[in-house]
Amino acid sequence: MFVSIEKGVLYVVAMPIGNRKDISLRAIDVLQEVELIAAEDTRHSGPLLKQLGIDTPMLALHDHNERGLVDNLVGRLREGGNLALISDAGTPLISDPGFPLVRECHRQGIRVSPIPGASAVICALSAAGLPTDRFIFEGFPPRTQAARRDRFKSLATETGTLVFYESGHRIQHCVSDLVECFGGDRPVVMARELTKLYETILFSTLKELHDRLEDEPVQRKGEFVILIGGTVKSAEDLSPESERVLRILLKELPVKQASSLAARITGEKKNRLYRLALDWQED
Ligand code: SAM
Repeated sequence: MFVSIEKGVLYVVAMPIGNRKDISLRAIDVLQEVELIAAEDTRHSGPLLKQLGIDTPMLALHDHNERGLVDNLVGRLREGGNLALISDAGTPLISDPGFPLVRECHRQGIRVSPIPGASAVICALSAAGLPTDRFIFEGFPPRTQAARRDRFKSLATETGTLVFYESGHRIQHCVSDLVECFGGDRPVVMARELTKLYETILFSTLKELHDRLEDEPVQRKGEFVILIGGTVKSAEDLSPESERVLRILLKELPVKQASSLAARITGEKKNRLYRLALDWQED
């Protein structure tokens, strides 16, 4: 149950990423009750707020004016005012403005309360079919090719799922550089226009995605989340010490016991040691 909003609190409120019905009931309550909404673009958010019957005054807070406004907004909060921060889509601060304001609130002991909801990164991960136990959110890749390739190369050996945001203008260049830096066989999921009319989730290899974007211009339209499967470490990547321990144990024990014991001694994954032991046996 929603308890009425408090004075002197900054509420960070998630908005939909496409489908307007994805706003939460609690978000509507808070946006109705606060004294002021700081919005990334008041012209963008105005129509949705109006549709929801919210007529709270708004003020524009975007990357270009945010630093200048922080003192003013924090001053209001210190005097007991309350404020909601929203961005054009999804969760504020996630590749969106708001970080200087939130940080300054913490510095000055002002409570910051999140009102959770949609974010394209989590929405995409939930439906991509790639491992979600570990993921690295990289936001937008750098705009220039050289910087983008440098960033991708630095991530090529990551084992967690990598998540990028990208726009329609750059999607093809981005995927070309991903093929170049990660190799064409790496699994990728392209999540396009999530929660919207042309929502598309494509699971393929990077090379297949690259070719599809070349052949079907329609697939280059809209907003994108690109998810790359992490690199799978092969048995050859085991440390020499782990291999040494495994070899010794295999002389005395059956494969299963040897790999299990080697895993306990070395901290390596039992399955990897087991697979390597089987490979050695076959050889
Ligand atoms: N704050 C937002 C969030 O929480 O996801 C992200 C804002 S960022 C400026 C916009 C980028 O997010 C887009 O270029 C795209 O990469 C991604 N994005 C936002 N909405 C999306 C959607 N409906 N489908 C796919 N990607 C989306």
